[in-house]
Amino acid sequence: MYEWLKVQAEQQPDKTAVVYEDQHLSFKSLYKEALKLSRHLKRLDRNRLGLYIGNTLEAVVLVHASMIAGIEIVLINTRLTAREITVQLGDIDVDTVITTKPLELEGHRLYDLTDLYELEPLSYNVDPPTGGTTLSIMFTSGTTGRAKAVPQSYRNHFTSAKGCEQRFGYGHASIWMNVNPIYHISGFSILMRSVIAGCPMVLVGKFDEARIWQKVVEYGVTHTSMVPIMLKRLMAHPIPDHNLEGVLLGGAGVTREVLKEALSKGLPVYNSFGMTETCSQIVSIGPGDPKILEGTAGRALDNVEVAIDHANDGEILVKGGPVIGHYLNADIEITEKFFRTGDMGYLDEEGYLYILDRRKDLIISGGENIYPKEIEDAANAYEKVANSAVVKRQDDEWGEVPVLMIEAVPGETIDERTLILHLKARLARYKLPKDIKVVENIIMTSTGKVSRGQNQQFYDQSESRKQ
Ligand code: ATP
Ligand code: MG
Repeated sequence: MYEWLKVQAEQQPDKTAVVYEDQHLSFKSLYKEALKLSRHLKRLDRNRLGLYIGNTLEAVVLVHASMIAGIEIVLINTRLTAREITVQLGDIDVDTVITTKPLELEGHRLYDLTDLYELEPLSYNVDPPTGGTTLSIMFTSGTTGRAKAVPQSYRNHFTSAKGCEQRFGYGHASIWMNVNPIYHISGFSILMRSVIAGCPMVLVGKFDEARIWQKVVEYGVTHTSMVPIMLKRLMAHPIPDHNLEGVLLGGAGVTREVLKEALSKGLPVYNSFGMTETCSQIVSIGPGDPKILEGTAGRALDNVEVAIDHANDGEILVKGGPVIGHYLNADIEITEKFFRTGDMGYLDEEGYLYILDRRKDLIISGGENIYPKEIEDAANAYEKVANSAVVKRQDDEWGEVPVLMIEAVPGETIDERTLILHLKARLARYKLPKDIKVVENIIMTSTGKVSRGQNQQFYDQSESRKQ
């Protein structure tokens, strides 16, 4: 049974489903609203729609309305440019987009959500979804190249939510807070988890430390999820008495220092590993686990298997209900039993996963493997460095060598010799960057990760100009 909202509306009609600012919707009214909107949506006569949405109550209604109407939804990253969006939508044949925020896009039918209600409602019949039905389509961050279109099925979302429920320890009596964008799997998965478990979701639009803490207290929030940078901002603010039982961190690696600080401040942090292709986290570790500060992303969820492909640089392989079976636009066939994550790592004897770096970014220098992330972490620990990217350069003697690009903290100048000394104290000799380039800014992806590909391109271009 994949009609999660309908079930909640029948079983606990008056319970709060969503809170946004001063608006509340019970499961029954959310279902009623979504059902009504689904009839207007049906008038568009589309099997697949683009959604350009912010974190608002109407956006939540729209997501549910599309699910009821049996329409696949394409979640558009609202930080992308019109050009990037056009490429993505073109890749998967989407011509109609519903918006809840301003967007200009040529060659597409755009509907402001409020205008949709003007369309004559249409009565319709759809078969209830099965596990294999596509619920949502999201694009990967494009950190390593062209973004891949990922179709996530009802079963993917359901098993992801169930695996998360067990490890992260929430249930119908819990209160979720969603501070992540709904267009991203980190935020979308909370929307799914809360309706599958039948617990309220407190939705936050704009990230503001003081207001978040205020809501955590006001609603008695028990579970939330965020990227490490948000946690840092929350920790810089006075922490009130709260009921938090779990703060899930994901999206990118989190340092031991941040985890340690959070635990010492009484925040029950979980580290995790996941991707768009796995419907969010599939490996995680909680505050009660003795290995939480040992640099591991944790153990596989109970319904997921993780293995390492030793013959291929230690690539991390995953398998299980939350893992997708194919891409829509990429020339990559997923034919093997295990899905290749493209990340490298290792498992310890107890099955804890340690993540090294992306396989594509591995630098092989004189036969030694160098993981750019290790060098970046060391550089970022230098106080005058705001951000860094390690890319490679071809070298006659070594094959490849690492080079370091750095962005200084505003107002600071970086003395290269002091920086090298700092790195020497932390890294083996063969890992030391062979060139350091100070740049105005390190190029980031729309989801806030260092784009090694674009930084590499930038480095290569500036090198070729020198010659
Ligand atoms: P693309 O696939 O288009 O290059 P992307 O892989 O960055 O982009 P996402 O699906 O948003 O797109 O991110 C998943 C990736 O994030 C993982 O494959 C991994 O490289 C990284 N990641 C996630 N969790 C962690 C973690 N705990 N530690 C290190 N890296 C992580
Ligand atoms: Mg990826």
